[in-house]
Formats: sequence, structure tokens, C-alpha cells
Amino acid sequence: MTPVTSLLGSRPSSGPSPRPRSSGSGQHRAIGFTPGKWLQTAVRAVPMASVLAVFAFLARGHFRSVAALSWPDAAVLGALVIGAVLAVTRRVRRSMSGAPILLRDELEFGATLLSAAFVTVALGGELLFPIVYLLMAFLVTFLPRPAAMTLLGGAVLFDAMLTLPDRWGVFLGRTIFLALFAGLYHLVLSARLAAARRAEEDAVKNKIKEIEERARTFRLVSSGASDSMPGVKDQEKWLVAAVKEIEGATGSALEVAEVALHSHTVGVFLLTSDDRSLKLHDCRSSSEQIQREKFAAGEGIFGALLKRGVPVRMNSSGGLKGVTHYESGGPDVGAILAVPIVEGGGLVRGVLVADRLENKPFNEEDERLLVVIAGEVLRAIEVERVMSYIRRSRDEKDRFFRAIEELNRAGSPDQVFLAVLESARQIAPLEFCAVTLVSEQNGQRMHRIMRMSGVTSAGRALENAIFADNNGLVANVVRYGAPLPGRDAGAMDRQIIFDDDTQIRGLQSLKIFPLVAGDRILGTLVTGSRKKAAFASDELRMLEVIAIQAAQAVLRAQLYEAMEKMATTDGLTGLFNHRTFQGRFDEQLATARRYSRKLSFILTDIDHFKSVNDTYGHPMGDQVLKGVAKILKEQARDTDIVARYGGEEFAIIMPETDAKGAHIIAERIRERVMKEVFQTEQGPLKVTLSLGIATFPDTALEKQALIDLSDQCLYFAKRHGRNQSVTVAQMQAAKPRAAEG
Ligand code: GH3
Ligand code: MG
Ligand code: MG
Repeated sequence: MTPVTSLLGSRPSSGPSPRPRSSGSGQHRAIGFTPGKWLQTAVRAVPMASVLAVFAFLARGHFRSVAALSWPDAAVLGALVIGAVLAVTRRVRRSMSGAPILLRDELEFGATLLSAAFVTVALGGELLFPIVYLLMAFLVTFLPRPAAMTLLGGAVLFDAMLTLPDRWGVFLGRTIFLALFAGLYHLVLSARLAAARRAEEDAVKNKIKEIEERARTFRLVSSGASDSMPGVKDQEKWLVAAVKEIEGATGSALEVAEVALHSHTVGVFLLTSDDRSLKLHDCRSSSEQIQREKFAAGEGIFGALLKRGVPVRMNSSGGLKGVTHYESGGPDVGAILAVPIVEGGGLVRGVLVADRLENKPFNEEDERLLVVIAGEVLRAIEVERVMSYIRRSRDEKDRFFRAIEELNRAGSPDQVFLAVLESARQIAPLEFCAVTLVSEQNGQRMHRIMRMSGVTSAGRALENAIFADNNGLVANVVRYGAPLPGRDAGAMDRQIIFDDDTQIRGLQSLKIFPLVAGDRILGTLVTGSRKKAAFASDELRMLEVIAIQAAQAVLRAQLYEAMEKMATTDGLTGLFNHRTFQGRFDEQLATARRYSRKLSFILTDIDHFKSVNDTYGHPMGDQVLKGVAKILKEQARDTDIVARYGGEEFAIIMPETDAKGAHIIAERIRERVMKEVFQTEQGPLKVTLSLGIATFPDTALEKQALIDLSDQCLYFAKRHGRNQSVTVAQMQAAKPRAAEG
């Protein structure tokens, strides 16, 4: 804390801190002029003393003619000359060393000159008075206002000595004129100076703004176009737009430099990635011989500049040595100005150079301008680099999240497999892609290609191909749970991906990811490309994540499928359960109603099933139920819906089927069941079925009515000897007879 406060306290509160003097110039002067302090003070007093002496002499009427000059007059004049020389020397020295110039210095400088002017006017006559006006103009122009005003007052006093008290008119006229002259001159001059300075600043600012605006406009154009059509093509478009933009903004900056610096050549040379060479990026040159090939960065003037990282200014009358940015036989360069293009972290990216053929050196102002332009060039390159990176990564991220989303939306395993292929192909340019699943069959590990895109060498699609566990890549990925092949993907043609029978030729890049869900490996995601080193590390990482997501999705879909099956089917027979039957019946009836189609419904019951249970036991009863269900499923058509209605009763919904068609199928089922022999411990067992058939819209329009009617038919069949199928028409035709009988 203490050092800080003391430091702050010791610093002057206002004004610039004095610059460090170079090699003690102040001391040097003190030793040269004065061996002692008194002499120093005396010498320092000479200018003012001589001015006061001149004033006093003029007031007493001296210096009225050269002929009348006395010795004292001559001594005073001598003192004035010495005083003037001292004052002028001091003034010039201080300004050259950069030391602050004090008001006293300015006053001594002005006052000695003014005294000399008045002595000249006194000696040479009133006609010379304009000398005073001119001197005043000079002083007003170059001295700060307080000094100039004081000197103006001094001039009026001097004039008063010459004119008053006799010639008031002349005095007043001259005073007014002097004041006007000084005032107007000051006004006009400062206005012009300010205007010039402002114009210069505006010009630079406008150019920079113009460059910035141009860059921004380009960017808007390119980013607008990019949103319309995402994809690989677009990325190329972006790249082209980005490069164009850099060139545009850099070009404008170089044009500014060319005009402002009157250069022969102004050019940007960027370091190559290994920092060893420089390569022309852009230039404005009157020469055809600018070096367009890469050249060594460590040599010549550029080498020195890159080493030290600071601007270089050089000039020579005989042509500069060490100029490397022209081909051999290029022009002789008289003056060169080169500034490094430096990134924020101090990393040098290249060189911005301006040169002239004539030996006309570049000044500090030129250097400052070129440094600003180097910054502009760097900014243009930087902005575009960042922009293209953002665009690329934004596009990548978009595709990635879209892929994940797609995977998460997929419900069934089939949808999942399709989504996996789609997502993988969105991430990387794949010519071959497949999903395999592993399963155990009779204690044997088997692999199945669930879905693939791209073709095998034989042009044969591999979907649903099954192969046994082997030493191929897919089998090994499942075995070890890690992606294959490793870094070295050479000799791809000899790699077995699936099995010996299935060769995939022409792939130069290949990566197989395990589908890992928890501690289970479900299968693999196979990705391949005909291009060498087709997958960037980012893409591989994303594919890996896709594989993890895919495994989750597969697992989820499988679980969902199993749960759905459990909820909709009957555990013993595998047929739809009663609840599902009801729902499906509603759907099918609605469809039949909408399209005015027929629909038949069969209700069936195993005859004397109680005795099966009683005789052979309940488990055997279950076996019979399973066997009958299997026959029903086999005998029904694919479009029919077979359900376990309850106990030993089954239902079949038959869309697009009239009573006659339903009866044929019912009979087919009945006969098939009748023939089936169930093996039991007590010998062979046979069962029969009774079936009742109702049809929409012939016999009933509503679901429950159809069920009730078919139940009546079934009951009718039971009562009339069982082992038969009965339609509503048959029942109704038989009933009156039964009633009659
Ligand atoms: P009917 O010819 O008149 O149909 O005579 P039935 O003996 O088949 O009579 P009913 O239909 O009333 O008998 C149904 C029997 O089916 C009663 C029940 O014990 C048996 N049952 C129902 N569900 C099951 C099952 O899941 N497993 C076994 N083993 N038996 C069942
Ligand atoms: Mg029954
Ligand atoms: Mg029964």
C-alpha cells in the first residue's frame, strides 16, 4: 500500500511527465556554458537585459540614425544580438530535444526579435514598420497564445516609445493595425490548421469505415444465402464467400495505403503454417515482378522485422539491400516501410510492406498509417477465420442435434435402424453404413445386419443377413466393446467386416462402433467411405455419440416392443388378448362401415374342455389351448385378427369377408383341429371345436350385436351336436324348423 501512495504522491498532478533525457544532454549544456553558477545566471539574463536596455534607449530617443550611433548604443546593440542568438538557440534546442518549452523561453525569443525589429525601424525609418507586422504575424503563428499576446503588448509599448507623445494618430493607427493583423492572422491560420487536421483525420476514419462496412455487407450476403440450403455444398460456398471477403477488405486497406503513401508496391505477405516462409496474400503494385512464390521468411529486411517484431523503415540512394519481395531482376527499391502483422497474443502472422523506387524515405506518420492498416488486414483475416469456424461448427451442431432428435423420435426398432443410418450419414460423408444386432440362438452368438445403406461388391443388399460369431471386425467390436479398426486403417480390402461371404470392397475409410447400452453390447454401427481419411476427429466423436444414442434407442425400442406385446397379447397362446380384441374389432368395424365392406366374426369354443382338464390335468389343458391357438393362427389369413376371447374361447375378426367365406374358413379350422392329435401320458388326445359366425352388415350392425349373434350361433352349434360351425343364416333357417319340430 505504502509504495503505491508514495508513488502517486510524488507524481506531478498535471502535465506530461518529463521525458527521460538521452545521454544527459542537459548536463552537457550546463558544463559547456558555465563553469560557475553565477556565470550561468548571467548568461541566462542576457536576452531580457538586452531587451530592457533597447527599450530604455529607444525611450530616451536613441537609435534615431545610423550616423548618430554612440558607443553605448553599439554596446546595447551587441548585447541584443548576443541575447537574440542565445534565446533563439535555447528555443530551438529545447524543441529539438523534445523538452517542454517555457513561457519565459518564448518571451525571450520573441522579445529579442521584436527589439531588433524596432531598432531597425528606428534606424531605417518609419517605412520599414511593416517588418514589425510581419514579425508579429510570424510570432502569432508559431508561439502559443499567452506568449503572442504579451509580445503584442510589448510591440505596442515599443511603438509608443517611438511615436508618443507627439504623434497619437500614427500610434493609434499602428496599434489598431497591429492588433487586427495579429488577430486575423491568428484566426485564419488556426482555422486552416484545424481544418487540415480534421480533413486528414476524416479521410483516414472514412476509409476505415468504408472497409469495415464493405466487410460487413459481404458477411450479410453470405450468411443470408447460407441459411436457405444447408449441406456440404453450402460449406464450400461459405468458404468461398469467406475468402472473397478477406480479399475484399484487405484489398480496400491496401488501396488506402497505396494512395496515402504514394507507394510503388504495397503488399501483405503471410507466414506459412510452419513459419518458415512468406507467401504473397494480396498487393497493389506497379511492378509485375512481385514475388508470388513462397520465399524464406528469415532472410533480408523481412527476416530482421519478423525477428524483432517491430516496424522497419529504410532508404538508400543506390537501391536497398535485403529486399526479398521481388523476383530476381526486380526493381531497385529506394525506400521501404514494413510493419509486422501481429495477433493479439503477440503472434506474428506476416508482414505488410510499402516501398518506393525513388529514395524518398517514409516518415513516422507513414509508419503509423501502415500499422493501422496492418491491424485492419489482420482483423479482416481474423474475423473471417472466426466466422467460418462458427458457421462450420454451427452447421455441424445443427446436424448433430437433428440426428439425435431423429433417433429419439424413433419408436419401433425398424424406425430406429433407419434413423441411425440417416443420422450417421448426416454427420459424415458415408458411402457405406450398417447397423448390426447380436443375439444368442441355442447358446450360439449370432449377428444380424438389421439395416444398411450402400451396396456390397456383389451389388447385393445385406439386410437381414445372419452370420455366426467369427473373427471379423463386427464380431470383434461386439467382443471387445471398442471401435475398430484403430488408427491404421490400411489394407481395407482385406479386412473382413461381417463374414467371409460378404466382402465390401472399395472402402478406404472404415470405423465400426459398438452399440453399448449400460453394460450390454447390442450390436454395431458400421461406417465406411471410399475416400481416404474421410472422417475428421470431430466427426468420429460425433459418430461415437450417435452410436451410444443409437444403442439407447434400440434398447428402448426393444423394451417398448416387449412391453407392448405383453400388454396386447395373451401370455399362454400368444394371441391378442380380450382388450386388444375389443379395440381391433372397433377399428375394423369402422373401416368396414366407412368403405361399405363386409366383415365376419367367428366365436369358437372347445367342446367338453372341462373333461380334458379333468382327465389329463390342467397343464395338459394348457397344451391343448396352445395347440388350438396355433392352428387358428395358421388357418386364418394374414389380415384376420385372432384373439383369445377368454378361457377356452377364441375369436376371429375377418375383414372383407362375407358369411360364406367365413364359413369356409371356419370349416377349414374345425377340420384341422379335429385332425390334431395331442400326445399325453394317457395316450393320444383329440379335441373338437364349435363355431358361431355373424356378419356385418348382413346380420347385425353393431359390435356387441355381432358378438351376441355369433354367441347364439355357437350355442346353437353346441346344442346341435358340437364339432360344427354355424352362421346366423343357418341358425335362422334351422330355428323355425326346430320350432315346428
Ligand atoms: P362345452 O362343450 O359346453 O363348452 O363344455 P366345456 O366343458 O368346454 O364347458 P365350459 O366351456 O363351460 O368349460 C370351460 C372350461 O375351460 C372351464 C375351465 O376349467 C377351463 N378353462 C378355462 N380357461 C382355462 C385355462 O386357461 N387352462 C385350462 N387348462 N383350462 C381352462
Ligand atoms: Mg367355454
Ligand atoms: Mg367349452
